[in-house]
Amino acid sequence: MTRIAICPGSFDPLTRGHVAIIERGLRLFDRIIVAVTINLKKQPLFTIEERSAMILEAFPNEPRIAVDSLSGLLAPWAASKGAVAILRGLRAPSDFEYELQMAHMNRHLNRELDTVFLPSEADGSYVSSSLVKEVAALGGDVSALVPPHVDIALRARFPRP
Ligand code: ADP
Repeated sequence: MTRIAICPGSFDPLTRGHVAIIERGLRLFDRIIVAVTINLKKQPLFTIEERSAMILEAFPNEPRIAVDSLSGLLAPWAASKGAVAILRGLRAPSDFEYELQMAHMNRHLNRELDTVFLPSEADGSYVSSSLVKEVAALGGDVSALVPPHVDIALRARFPRP
């Protein structure tokens, strides 16, 4: 049996924190489908296509990773993909409160689906897409926090001195 996990998120943009969670998830699951979520309430910096391309480019030789986009409910979508788990990263206790609620709700909606949490790398717990964007917009150097091609894309949007 192929064990598939869905790794959902905005990925606006992909950070090294995301990359680490996906890589570690590959040790636990046979395949990971990274689901780029379309949130109509949020105004993203990068389009779905740009975000998806960034994720694919970060894993050039990894056929076990697929990237897809998702605008509706995660639980039935995950079931339609044959997934057994949702993979999420936890950076801080403040993440956990929301994540636990989501995990219970997703299990309510789909009893076959579990949520697996991985703690972030200790030195990556402060890295979030929103903070990376904020710092990049102000001309700060975020090159150590994102893959090189994401850094190039951020520099194109926000020129650095
Ligand atoms: P969302 O908008 O759904 O929170 P994100 O793109 O911010 O989407 O995050 C997607 C997933 O990656 C979430 O599970 C989040 O906790 C995890 N994540 C984000 N940044 C990090 C990090 N630095 N270390 C570990 N996990 C992270």
